[in-house]
Amino acid sequence: MKYAVSEARRCVLCGFCEPVCPTLYPGGHRGHGPRGRVQLILLLEGSSSRLVEEALYTCLLCGACTQVCPAKIDVAGAVREARAFLRSKLSS
Ligand code: SF4
Ligand code: SF4
Repeated sequence: MKYAVSEARRCVLCGFCEPVCPTLYPGGHRGHGPRGRVQLILLLEGSSSRLVEEALYTCLLCGACTQVCPAKIDVAGAVREARAFLRSKLSS
């Protein structure tokens, strides 16, 4: 989770990424967008929940958020690592 956490920590919560994310609908849960996903990744080592799992597994890994992110945060890469972390937790 080192990479995912270090990427997530660089997020300045500006929200520029949200309008371009294809999985974040108006009125939808923020966790279904890039800003919410990176914040949930920061909580993942402590505990996980269905909400966090849904947030991670609904990401399309398209990278559209990174294109507009001023910090060029690799949300898709962070989500990939977080999914692997979740799988390892479930199998242990
Ligand atoms: S990589 Fe995931 S969070 Fe980023 S825009 Fe695509 S679906 Fe949204
Ligand atoms: S654009 Fe980048 S820095 Fe801004 S909220 Fe999205 S992921 Fe965080």
